[in-house]
Amino acid sequence: CFITFEGIDGSGKTTQIARMHTFLQEQGYEVILTREPGGTRISDRIRELLLNPEHKEMEEATEVLLYAASRAQHVREKVVPALEKGKIVLCDRFLDASLAYQGYGLGLPLSDILAVNRFATGGVAPDRTYFLELPLEVSQARLATRFASQEGPDRIEQKPSSYHERVYEGFMTLREQYSERIVSVDANRSIEEIQQGLQADILLYLQA
Ligand code: ATP
Ligand code: C5P
Ligand code: MG
Repeated sequence: CFITFEGIDGSGKTTQIARMHTFLQEQGYEVILTREPGGTRISDRIRELLLNPEHKEMEEATEVLLYAASRAQHVREKVVPALEKGKIVLCDRFLDASLAYQGYGLGLPLSDILAVNRFATGGVAPDRTYFLELPLEVSQARLATRFASQEGPDRIEQKPSSYHERVYEGFMTLREQYSERIVSVDANRSIEEIQQGLQADILLYLQA
């Protein structure tokens, strides 16, 4: 069972997926937690190329292909072997992020992003996706706190707010388009409240 978490920067994906990982382990499930871009040694090297704030000259086509390359390695090296062993795979971002950020954000044709990623994933796709829905202003306030206390913004986070607005709208469109797979979660609540809703949903889903 392949479960992904999606949403704009700072919507709470990493916070919630880590808690769900612990919860499912406690419930006795075999489950792995992974993320994109990254998740394997090679994919993490590609992540560094993508997110380095010094790489301001990166071409849009390069960006699309690097996310896809990271994904190709990650799917084959980690996701598929775990699924074949019957494990639950929890993944922090996947293909929807490429559609939202490089498709809607950069304004590149979705058909191109889908074609590149069909090759990259070999058709591996999530069974269920939790979309953490949060207004852009709230996410920006949360990130400001994180940038002040931990690491500063990466290359993508440094892009202008108009870019992040397009990404936000992109996610809202994807949510409608793939409503049979994407579960929208109100992320403008406490960490515990959000987690309780997620836990109730995943248990129903896994037991169905
Ligand atoms: P990114 O896309 O940048 O990886 P993310 O979606 O993984 O972000 P987190 O890193 O989980 O988001 O959360 C962003 C910040 O907001 C963190 O500082 C986190 O502690 C805080 N945060 C997470 N969830 C909540 C919440 N429900 N209420 C308030 N603050 C939160
Ligand atoms: O979620 P995480 O913080 O690991 O994502 C790293 C960065 O990569 C974020 O700034 C995110 O916006 C960006 N990203 C992207 N396109 C994707 C996936 C992630 O621009 N397809
Ligand atoms: Mg995160």
